[in-house]
Amino acid sequence: MDNVNEYGGEQILLVDDNPINLQILYKTLQGSGYRLLVAKSGEAALEIAARVRLSLVLLDIMMPGIDGFEVCRTLKQDPRTQDVAVIFLSALDDSVAKVRGFAMGGVDYIAKPFQADEVVARVRTHVKIHRLESQLARRNSELEEENQKILNAVDEGIIGLDHDGRITLINPAASAISGWSAGDVIGERIHSLGLFEADRASSHSEQHTPAFQAYRLGQTVRRDQDWIYRHDGKAIPVSLTCSPRKEGGAVVIFRDISEWLDSEEILRHTREELESQRQHLAHIERLSTSVEMAAGIAHEVNQPLTAVVNYSRVGKRMVERDVIDRQALAEVLDKLDRQAVRAADVIQRLRSYVKKPDAGRERVDIELLMQDVIALAEVDSRMADVAIHFECQHELPPVVVDVVQIQQVALNLIRNAMEAVAKTPSREFGVVLQTDMEDGWVCFRVSDRGPGLSAETEANLFHPFFSTKVGGMGVGLSICQNIVQAHGGEIGYRKNDTGGATFYCRLPPAD
Ligand code: ADP
Repeated sequence: MDNVNEYGGEQILLVDDNPINLQILYKTLQGSGYRLLVAKSGEAALEIAARVRLSLVLLDIMMPGIDGFEVCRTLKQDPRTQDVAVIFLSALDDSVAKVRGFAMGGVDYIAKPFQADEVVARVRTHVKIHRLESQLARRNSELEEENQKILNAVDEGIIGLDHDGRITLINPAASAISGWSAGDVIGERIHSLGLFEADRASSHSEQHTPAFQAYRLGQTVRRDQDWIYRHDGKAIPVSLTCSPRKEGGAVVIFRDISEWLDSEEILRHTREELESQRQHLAHIERLSTSVEMAAGIAHEVNQPLTAVVNYSRVGKRMVERDVIDRQALAEVLDKLDRQAVRAADVIQRLRSYVKKPDAGRERVDIELLMQDVIALAEVDSRMADVAIHFECQHELPPVVVDVVQIQQVALNLIRNAMEAVAKTPSREFGVVLQTDMEDGWVCFRVSDRGPGLSAETEANLFHPFFSTKVGGMGVGLSICQNIVQAHGGEIGYRKNDTGGATFYCRLPPAD
């Protein structure tokens, strides 16, 4: 088809079987900036239209052979000529002919005999409209091409749905993820494909699927994790969003998250391993503390055992007598029992303290927990001659904790404090353990009047392997910090007004 550019302007075809009319028309439009072509019959008009790209046809209706209506119908049926603007010319000034002309796809109607000015004005208007329409169509197809390029380039799968849930579009990424080609799915209802997990899970109630909620109910549905079933039946994890479209229907956008899930799994595994290492380290630290306390504990157990031996000898002598004083014997046996229980208690406390980290968390009263810690620290306290003063606010809210681990924190703080004052005159003030509420937290504090912390020690406090002690491991406080943070709490240090150090631990109260 000849291109308009060859001429550089719009081309107009004038069609009339009457040569005089044709000439008048020609003259009327001559010099108005258009290239004019003429045809004396419908057949000739169609033949020219098939060769030349026209903007407009001025078309007489009444012609022998193919009449104007027929010419117009044929032009509108052919995709190559359907955009051309047709203005009918006729002496038939009845409204039936006009209506028929518009029904055939005509854009205007000029009655004969026509006014030259009118013809020129109408032609100009329609040529302009035709030009704008062509530009618009070109721009539209460019935009469509651009859209298509974007759809082809994105990693996300995109599926377009009409108002009935039928697939109108599937981009290459969606085909790659799902294994369904455009040919397989365009026109199919998304629900019947069983593409998404929800389509399979609720096969009897389509209403509950995210796609339905978008294309029918106009709601946006997001799922961080869902499943797409590939053509071959394999399930692929995806994140998806179903959004309604303004003009009706919906768009489903999804992304394959297999790799992300794999890295999440590795991360979870690493976290678990780290936590297990921490627990292991805390356990080793408890074992090491108990080794440090072993001499004192042996002494502690030895005392009641010696008493047990003595009471059992006394008892034996009593039963060897001729007359047995039953009441005295019962009293001896009671004392023997109390001493045996005392020894067993010391061993039991130590055993629970060094047991493996499998305890899990329980809801406890911090006061009772601290009493157990004091009992554990009692041996050291006696050996170092540093008293432990317990100032406790009763009936605090319970806390949910791993009891052995929180005991470990408190015991560490108490033993550090005792060590700080042991060989100083301020030993006589002992160590003070307090429990109360602080800014909404359940708090315990350990204070001493020892030398306190130097600036360097304070800066490195809670760093693993920092110690100012000969033979000190320096892991105690860093383990305490791990434990407390894992409980959602805080551990810290502050200077005492009276000199010395205060360490505090804050735990969230149970709901
Ligand atoms: P370690 O007791 O093995 O040194 P920690 O982590 O328990 O390890 O303590 C680290 C350091 O913090 C100690 O070496 C000590 O210098 C300092 N410290 C801890 N508690 C006190 C305290 N109550 N008074 C003075 N210094 C303290």
